[in-house]
Amino acid sequence: MIILIYPPVAKPCEPPAGIARLSGMLGRFGIEHRLVDSNLEGLLHLLRMPVPPEKREDVWTRRALRNRERNLVSMRDPALYHHIDRYKRAVRDISRVLSIVSPSGTAVGLANYEHRELSPLRSGDLLTAAERPELNPFYSYFKSRIGGLFHEKEPSMTGISINYLSQALSAFSIIGFIRREFPGVKLILGGGLITSWLKNLGGENPFAGLADHLVPGPGEDQLLSLLRPDATGGKIPRPDYHALPTDLYLSPGFVLPYSASQGCYWSRCEFCPEKSEGNAYVPVPTQQVLSDLKTLAEKTSPALIHLLDNAVSPALLDRLSAHGLGVPWYGFARVGQHLADPDFCVALKQTGCVMLKLGIESGDQGVLDALQKGISIETASVVLRNLKKAGIAAYVYLLFGTPPESEASARKTLEFTARHSDCINFLNLAIFNMPACGPHYPEIATRRFYDGDLSLYTDFTHPDGWDRKRVRLFLENEFKRHPAVSPILKNDPPLFTSNHAPFFVMRETT
Ligand code: SF4
Repeated sequence: MIILIYPPVAKPCEPPAGIARLSGMLGRFGIEHRLVDSNLEGLLHLLRMPVPPEKREDVWTRRALRNRERNLVSMRDPALYHHIDRYKRAVRDISRVLSIVSPSGTAVGLANYEHRELSPLRSGDLLTAAERPELNPFYSYFKSRIGGLFHEKEPSMTGISINYLSQALSAFSIIGFIRREFPGVKLILGGGLITSWLKNLGGENPFAGLADHLVPGPGEDQLLSLLRPDATGGKIPRPDYHALPTDLYLSPGFVLPYSASQGCYWSRCEFCPEKSEGNAYVPVPTQQVLSDLKTLAEKTSPALIHLLDNAVSPALLDRLSAHGLGVPWYGFARVGQHLADPDFCVALKQTGCVMLKLGIESGDQGVLDALQKGISIETASVVLRNLKKAGIAAYVYLLFGTPPESEASARKTLEFTARHSDCINFLNLAIFNMPACGPHYPEIATRRFYDGDLSLYTDFTHPDGWDRKRVRLFLENEFKRHPAVSPILKNDPPLFTSNHAPFFVMRETT
């Protein structure tokens, strides 16, 4: 028997797709397994902890504590998503309770976990988290829940799926607990963060002695070869969500996550880890995508489908526009010829597409070309107008401070954004981080960015002096305050951002 665990903290709005896909594979081979979403369960456990009177000092805390169950219920109620201010208040109040119950020196949030002394970017700190699991805010939860499961039936193997830095410290606390209490169990680590670490560290296991195997990439084949050395994987498995508590996630209805591909079909953008890590593009055949989604939708009655692809391929967009899913859906797509066709956008809308996430990055064509983004700013303009006409919301991603960007280019991005503000529903503004394993600009000096051997990024000297500090000032003082931009930013659901954004537009656009 194998137990697959998704550790805290990650946004608890939809089930973890990685362990659900592994579950699909294990089920196909009849391998006994259990799934534990320790993220959702652990956060709900913390939110219900008793709070001593001395911590109930101010009015806000008392209100947040008094309303904690009501706020959790309302996060699952579509009515909350009609009022962004009420929604923001519920999210703030839930976050307040988490901050109150966080032990001293730690800060747990709905999308983050920080420890005053331990950093997930230092392998030594992760080993400390493993040596002293009782320091973790979720310790009482996983001691009873994971300990209970293991006592019921001790698994031969446990897989831990670590995708975000915010999960790493708790994951290692769970690992330390299992190692101490159940030393015979084999431990396998996988997930997006483990994949990136392995690519950046040249495949070496910095946690040897603690984890038996580190598995990069999707993981199905490696896991299968460990469990059934004589079996062959075959087709990409359909995820299986039935073992997860689908009605407890903080969303107004079940959100069905589905990856129709691994990697990115474009994979050329200079700033992107998909390129610098050299991740292979592995699409699920479009026929299988449609049949998987149909079967999963029948089983789970989702309110929304979340396509997790880095960029939904043109081939899949074609199939979707022709067949539809019968359920509202959203995902990342690339600006290109398909979306530049207004009739195609209307067809996509009719198949249930409620929102597309678009990485436009810059309003300066020279920057886009230097980054090998492969899009034209004129086409981006046409696409935004088409989506608006078709009734599909646009969640636009912009990137500032890249090596080819100057202050003048950033102003072009502001001008582009303001000119299209009537077609942009949501905005994500990011400051460029140089991936540690590339791209390699020989003329740019780099240096270690964070104080940590596991950092995936490196600091660099911008050739135009357009450094992070200046970019940040520009964003705060100019970009975010622009009268056409600031209302868009106020639309953004705090913490859950694009995960909850579709629910705010579904009532307008469906
Ligand atoms: S399209 Fe997106 S995922 Fe693909 S390489 Fe560019 S930034 Fe990365």
